[in-house]
Amino acid sequence: MSKTHNLDLLNNSISYFREAVNYAQRDGSETNQWKFAIVHVVQAMELAFKEYLRRIHPAFIWEAIDKPDKTVSMKVALARLRNPSIGKVAISNQEASKIEKAIELRNELTHFEFNHQHAHIELKFAEIFAFVMFFYRSHLGLTTAEFADEEQHQRIIRLVRARAELLEKTRAYIKQEDVGDLWICPSCTEGTFVVAEEQCCFCHHREKVVDCESCGQATLASDVADTSDLFDWEYDEGLARILEDFGMAHSGCPECVSSIKEKIEELRRAQYLEDMAMDARALR
Ligand SMILES: [Zn+2]
Ligand SMILES: [Zn+2]
Repeated sequence: MSKTHNLDLLNNSISYFREAVNYAQRDGSETNQWKFAIVHVVQAMELAFKEYLRRIHPAFIWEAIDKPDKTVSMKVALARLRNPSIGKVAISNQEASKIEKAIELRNELTHFEFNHQHAHIELKFAEIFAFVMFFYRSHLGLTTAEFADEEQHQRIIRLVRARAELLEKTRAYIKQEDVGDLWICPSCTEGTFVVAEEQCCFCHHREKVVDCESCGQATLASDVADTSDLFDWEYDEGLARILEDFGMAHSGCPECVSSIKEKIEELRRAQYLEDMAMDARALR
């Protein structure tokens, strides 16, 4: 990486940011618009992080400081930023996990089939957009005019507010109508998933509600996990079959999966101690 390339980190970040703003302010609620907006704003954040680390020491933009061939991953960049002896940037755990989620989402959007609701992407965009603006201003010493036109900036702020208002309206609707049980929606992460309707009344994400095979409690289909990899298996002529399931259910809700895991570990330990005692007796 040449010296000029280093100097371009900030300019590149700003041009990604401006592109993100362009996508975000297009009219309509087309999903692709938000897909491109978030991919660009996350890219802007990534470059802004690198610029910040470069200002501390150019070596910090490399993944391994003694191997200048691969630039730092977002995970490592974030850890360096938060490190009190390197970046000294105060980023709460909640904020950090939002950033990590946004990076995961960006990777998904770039590499896989796109299956998110646009309201979810819009929310993520708003969060990261606000964070990048804050980062530009307070950590890279930029003024708003240096990374966004005043008018554009105002439009995005309005958009973010419009979304907050929409969420308020959804909450008012929930209060007014008796919709029954509400869960955290796995798509938009708001507490707006109406269990009886198997649909989120904010982002309209649909998902089956099923009974846990183990405890019988209603649970989201996406939360049900297979437990069979915890069992003992036998492999015979290329075929795998379960040798011992310890009398446990073969799938379960998250709580059941962790308790099944614990119970099986306990049973294995007990079995192990029993075998040891048998061996000891046999040796006598
Ligand atoms: Zn939702
Ligand atoms: Zn369960």
